[in-house]
Amino acid sequence: MKAIRVHEFGGPEVMKLEDVPDLQPGPSQVVVRIHAAGVNPVEAYVRSGSYPQKPILPYTPGTDAGGVVMAVGSGVKGVKAGDRVYTSGPNSGTYAEQVLCGEAQVHRLPDTVSFEQGAAMGVAYGTAYRGLFQRAEAKPAETVLVHGASGGVGTAAVQLARAGGMTVIGTAGSEPGLELVKKEGAHHVLNHASDGYLDELMKLTDGRGVDVIVELLANKNLGKDLTVLAKKGRVAVIGSRGPVEINPRDAMGREADIRGVTLMNTSEQEFKTMHAALVAGLENGTLRPVIGQRIPLVEAARAHVEIMKPSGAHGKIVLVP
Ligand code: NAP
Repeated sequence: MKAIRVHEFGGPEVMKLEDVPDLQPGPSQVVVRIHAAGVNPVEAYVRSGSYPQKPILPYTPGTDAGGVVMAVGSGVKGVKAGDRVYTSGPNSGTYAEQVLCGEAQVHRLPDTVSFEQGAAMGVAYGTAYRGLFQRAEAKPAETVLVHGASGGVGTAAVQLARAGGMTVIGTAGSEPGLELVKKEGAHHVLNHASDGYLDELMKLTDGRGVDVIVELLANKNLGKDLTVLAKKGRVAVIGSRGPVEINPRDAMGREADIRGVTLMNTSEQEFKTMHAALVAGLENGTLRPVIGQRIPLVEAARAHVEIMKPSGAHGKIVLVP
């Protein structure tokens, strides 16, 4: 099969398409033929060598895919050859034609959902779910700000919060991004590139502030976030690309919480809960992953350039083998 291989850390050009042996499932394992692979910013950080956890070289990047089960190992009961599935956190990289997964990492993809949408599920929806529910404990009737709502995680958070009965305010940095966020379910949209947009937020909440912030760029926003939280408000910090200064007094008066989010810290039981909820959302149509760009697998380097652009996000980028 073909797979992207990385033999040295560096720029996007270190990713090369190569021939590698086909995969065989061991006991309790599943091999999936990949129809689309999701692209996430973390894969660019890892490839560059700047991420704290480094894979052993050479490796194949990627943790998300949508496809069809090719073969199952002994003891696998939940899926069989021919089933449509998405996988997240498999044992081998998904920038490839095939991927090896543990049975618990394979989830059924409803017939109404495309393979590309399946490839958008794991990291983006998993992280949005963890941030919103498992870490920030968002509840129906609360008000949620998705600060960076136009990308993979942000669109997922908007759909999850809307389906969960919250009032949703989403931000984007471009007109197409704002339109997308509104279309995906935000009650109100604000442009994070405009001066004074957080004053608008306070007007939208009658001066009360928001209960939960899902923060995708904390190094720019965390200090300001603490000033627009309601009492007992929670910020779920999902994305940050550097340090930031905060005034602790903004948190003290509100008894506000800053809660870090790392998908990798999710326990086995929490993953089970998360994916049961996500598959249900796909089935009932409240979750509809947005695919912004489809890029051929051989052009994985271009996908990494696109995912690291500072603005202009529009849902997920997927690689198509
Ligand atoms: P993405 O699809 O590239 O989206 C990036 C988002 O950030 C876009 O909505 C973009 O909006 C927004 N943004 C740009 N400038 C902003 C600003 N000043 N304020 C608020 N938002 C701003 O990336 P993604 O996959 O959604 O991931 C987003 C971040 O979460 C990344 O840093 C990623 O590494 C991190 N992440 C963390 C975890 C975890 O486990 N903690 C898991 C997944 C992702 P415009 O383009 O419209 O300006």
